Amino acid sequence: MKTSIATVTVAGDLTEKLAAIAAAGFDGVEIFEQDFIAHDGGPREVGRMVRDHGLEITLFQPFRDFECLPEPLRSKAFDRARHKFDTMADLGTDLMLICSSCHPRALGGIDRAADDLAELGEIAAGRGLRIGYEALAWGRHVNDHRDAWEIVRRAGHPATGLILDSFHSLGRRIDPDSIRSIPGDRIFFVQLADAPAIEMDLLYWSRHFRNMPGEGELGVERFMRAVMATSYAGPVSLEIFNDQFRGGEPKSVARDGYRSLIALMDDVRRAEPDVVQDLPAIPARVAAEGIGFVEFASRGDEAAALGASLRSLGFDLVGRHRSKEIDLWRQGDIRIVVNRETEGHAAHTWNARGTCVCDIGIEVASGEAALSRARALGADPFHQEIGVGVLTLPAIRGLAGSVLHFVDQTNGLEKVWSDEFVPVPVKGAGAGLTRIDHLDQTMGYEDMLSWTLFYTSLFDMEKSPILDVIDPNGLIRAQDVTSRGGGFRVTLNATETHRTLAGGFLADSFGASVHQIAMATDDIFATARALAARGFDPLPIPENYYDDLEARFDLPPGLPDRLRAANVLYDRVGGGEFFQLYSRALPGGLYVEIVQRGPGYHRYGEANAPFRIAAQTRLARPKGMPRA
Ligand code: MG
Repeated sequence: MKTSIATVTVAGDLTEKLAAIAAAGFDGVEIFEQDFIAHDGGPREVGRMVRDHGLEITLFQPFRDFECLPEPLRSKAFDRARHKFDTMADLGTDLMLICSSCHPRALGGIDRAADDLAELGEIAAGRGLRIGYEALAWGRHVNDHRDAWEIVRRAGHPATGLILDSFHSLGRRIDPDSIRSIPGDRIFFVQLADAPAIEMDLLYWSRHFRNMPGEGELGVERFMRAVMATSYAGPVSLEIFNDQFRGGEPKSVARDGYRSLIALMDDVRRAEPDVVQDLPAIPARVAAEGIGFVEFASRGDEAAALGASLRSLGFDLVGRHRSKEIDLWRQGDIRIVVNRETEGHAAHTWNARGTCVCDIGIEVASGEAALSRARALGADPFHQEIGVGVLTLPAIRGLAGSVLHFVDQTNGLEKVWSDEFVPVPVKGAGAGLTRIDHLDQTMGYEDMLSWTLFYTSLFDMEKSPILDVIDPNGLIRAQDVTSRGGGFRVTLNATETHRTLAGGFLADSFGASVHQIAMATDDIFATARALAARGFDPLPIPENYYDDLEARFDLPPGLPDRLRAANVLYDRVGGGEFFQLYSRALPGGLYVEIVQRGPGYHRYGEANAPFRIAAQTRLARPKGMPRA
């Protein structure tokens, strides 16, 4: 399979776009005419630049308002096409996209369109070129790939073929299985785009809200399965018009595109093993089972304060690294590493961001398989000779500068803890915290799709719909990704302004993502008592919250007072109950959330989020004040 992407998908000028597209690993590129016209260099130079990047031009597009025009407009359209054929010859590409006409004078008529396309196909063939006809979802007379195929069929010219675009078909809810009856060799090109399910004008939806396959809800996989069933063997190309991608970082948008395309085609290969043979096999999505450790970068007084906070949460210092400034804290199955080294990844992270989470260890069945899938999806492997990285754990660079380690039963993490760390005698009995329930990560709104794609393409995780959460100073868009079985859970919080709690954290930490670590207990009230005995100071929750809670839920007698006394938040969905208790801010501006997740409760207490965020904001330092 040849991978391709349209220049319009990626931000930047043509030079930047091509560099980003090549770096992401694509084989080819669709030249979007506007990008070419805006470029300060002729078609031969552009063709050379593309080939110098190791890319080929898979398509020149779009040629608009061609078919079914009355004279003299018809002759003018043919002249225009001849002119574009000259450009294509200089660029070094043989295929032009003709999208169905939106011209107000277009006459319509399937045979008229077929005659025009046959005649242009003959002209193209004389120059060694081909044309592909695409039904725009808002085309004046042709807006359905089934009609476009009938036109191409009647044109009956070998240089005139069909171009399919998932957005135009799925956006109009046309059954993609109708593609299965089209001969694969008559499909000249396939463009892919997903989109969120929003009811709006088709043209506006297409120009602003398309996104990468898997980032939306259109069902691109079913579309592509139908395409592959036809024995189509041409390029598979991303054509995405998206406001955030236009303003995004070219390299990361291109990398996301590549990731989405590889993940999609792997899904297609698995779903249609009888029809898809030439796709490389990559390991399946990884079953993430839990979080093996969380590593903080910290230093000096902040590291000491972080240690004191961990102690107040019931953690014990259980080991000191034999040769490095690294401490291991433990409670239940939760391991927190505090790295105070002055060299290596943690040190670089601390220099840039201060105290923050720099590494996460994710428990998987096979670390090697996880690394292999991540690499196939375009992730960079991570190597370092210092600190926890020395554990020879397979690791990759995640988003926002984080590092993810894949921990499995065979790669010896237990041995690392026992061999590399000198045990420290444990005094405390803990506070009943058992495991990490979930991580809460923060990002700019423009980066949210990247994060969701990152997790759902690599791991076997489901994403929730996006929710709006009210912060006193703005809106947070929240989405959670949860592994099958619930062992690995992440809540993503995207902010549009630095004035929100999440945005302030992002700004103060220069982009660190982990804002909260949720830890599980089996008995939140026992944990609250144990924490109180250790001097833990919970986030105070206002009386109004509890009054409202009593009105909303039919709570058993005594429970409201216990919740009040312990500053515990409560939620119930169906029959499943959920309890939450928050810390005040830890060094670096992070929070610990303690949760008790009752049977059948699979959410994250989002109903409580506005009140919890308001409570956190009240206690936060005034905006603009330096970090303590
Ligand atoms: Mg298209």
